[in-house]
Amino acid sequence: MIGYRELRLKLTPQRIAILDYLKDNIEHPSADDIYKAVSLKYPTMSFATVYNTLEALRKKGGVTELTIDATKKRFDPNTKPHHHLICIECRRIVDIDVTYDLTLSGEKKSGFDIVGNHIEFYGICPECKDHHHNPKKEN
Ligand code: ZN
Ligand code: MN
Repeated sequence: MIGYRELRLKLTPQRIAILDYLKDNIEHPSADDIYKAVSLKYPTMSFATVYNTLEALRKKGGVTELTIDATKKRFDPNTKPHHHLICIECRRIVDIDVTYDLTLSGEKKSGFDIVGNHIEFYGICPECKDHHHNPKKEN
């Protein structure tokens, strides 16, 4: 994630707490996840502050908004191009750092200048697979 200075955001202790939570976070949290985690330390934190900070960060390129989870938007502080794997049961999202040679040539581009791509893999994670094999083991 880019540094506080480069973000040129007005920094409040609450905003810093949100940025600290996101730094190096590989869980792809939703706004709600971030709100729940950060309000443990800052009980006066409002959901609006989380939402507005995420929106400001997104506009400045500090987080990427992921729509891979149809149930809620997820946020990724890793803004370098990469792909994702999502568990269709628990919605856990994992990074895939593989560079695929995806090129669109000629008329396949429909006149677009291509600026990126994103591959979503769907599957069942090890924990969910394990749960299928031991259905009585509740967690
Ligand atoms: Zn899972
Ligand atoms: Mn990611």
